[in-house]
Amino acid sequence: MAEIPSILVLEPAAEQSQRRTAGIMVKKGPQLDLESLKAHLREIRQHSRDNHISLLEELKRNLDQYAGVKLAIATDAKQAASYIKQTAEGTDLASINKSSVVINELRPELQASGFKTYIRYFTEFKNFEKFEKKVEDYWALPGMHERGLVESFDVRKTVTRLRSSEVRDFVAILGVNAVSAEDGSVFFLQHMTNISKDLEQAKKIILVVSLEKVVKDRGAALFQTRCMGIFGLESILLDLGPKEVEQYDFDSLPTLSGDQGRELHILILDNGRKGLLKDGYKDLFLCLDCRACARQCPIGLHLLANKGMVYSPKNYLLGFLQGWLPPAEACVHCGRCQVECPVEIDIPTLLWKGQFEYYARHGRGLRKRLLDNPELLAKLGSWTAPLANWAKDRVIFKLIMQVVAGIHRQARLPTFHRQTLRKWAKGGRRG
Ligand code: SF4
Ligand code: SF4
Repeated sequence: MAEIPSILVLEPAAEQSQRRTAGIMVKKGPQLDLESLKAHLREIRQHSRDNHISLLEELKRNLDQYAGVKLAIATDAKQAASYIKQTAEGTDLASINKSSVVINELRPELQASGFKTYIRYFTEFKNFEKFEKKVEDYWALPGMHERGLVESFDVRKTVTRLRSSEVRDFVAILGVNAVSAEDGSVFFLQHMTNISKDLEQAKKIILVVSLEKVVKDRGAALFQTRCMGIFGLESILLDLGPKEVEQYDFDSLPTLSGDQGRELHILILDNGRKGLLKDGYKDLFLCLDCRACARQCPIGLHLLANKGMVYSPKNYLLGFLQGWLPPAEACVHCGRCQVECPVEIDIPTLLWKGQFEYYARHGRGLRKRLLDNPELLAKLGSWTAPLANWAKDRVIFKLIMQVVAGIHRQARLPTFHRQTLRKWAKGGRRG
């Protein structure tokens, strides 16, 4: 029996093998069929959702057979961070990958427990002072959707043992893309070399498996990871670029003599996911975290992305359901996220549902009631015109509107008229 389960790292396939790889995925020869790809993915995801308890049991049984793996289960992010702290044995330096589970859910807890965390992906932008980001918002994304099928992904690295001559004193905390319950093999997708390096260099490796990432077998895990690359290909451009705050040169850390003390941990994280299945949000369990839903979301960059978190409408909803984000008031319910989602999760309806339940529980304050009733605000302006028109440009009035109604002080309010269109139309008919 091997010491550890196989860890497979996928990367964008080389130009010459792209077509061949994509052909293998859909098993349809050179004719690529987007709908078949989505249908197969949805089958895999539905199986994971509907069998998550038995899949987890199977995974635990299989991982138990590997002497080189320590398995832990955390019910929430706090418990997960506390386990990692204990595992780190005094090391407070951590390299994390771009997994939304690690960045959004675990990182705040890790930092609160004293870890210095860096997303090594961003460290890997060479000549970063010269790097010019090309995509500022979703409308600037190039049309790569169809190309995504051809630019497929292939396994570039397989790790089957812990031994390494490159070990350094830090912890790698890596959110995985899929795990096979059948044999415990773990799959990652990488666009830079950060994950490969972490697997080679970190003294303690913690692989974080959120519950929905467990799939039935190796074939399903490989397919899901490839789909993650294909459907997430465009969204990745939204936050492509160097981030100075994430810069840390892990390569320059001194290598440790020998690799004794090197450990591989698999940490299974619930963090509210089982609850989703009971509370009417079970379709979120279908999500593979590809972030295709972020591709054309008009509010994305203004919500989580500017807070250093990984934005997608699904991530926002999950953060709200986990209790660390307010309801998604900014959502304009345009429906683009649902159209883009390869497994057709109805995110807009779930966002509505979340808001509805929240206000049913907490009630709507004055500000919310005012903003929910723009007609009343317009009537007030119309009844009080021209006084309203004089006041709306006064700093004091703008500040009052910001505090009372939540309308930003720099927002331009419309000009109000006593004679409304409706009154005018009624008058016209009478005339
Ligand atoms: S429905 Fe809401 S979350 Fe979805 S894309 Fe539109 S604004 Fe974004
Ligand atoms: S909800 Fe978003 S991240 Fe999840 S599968 Fe659909 S598109 Fe991908």
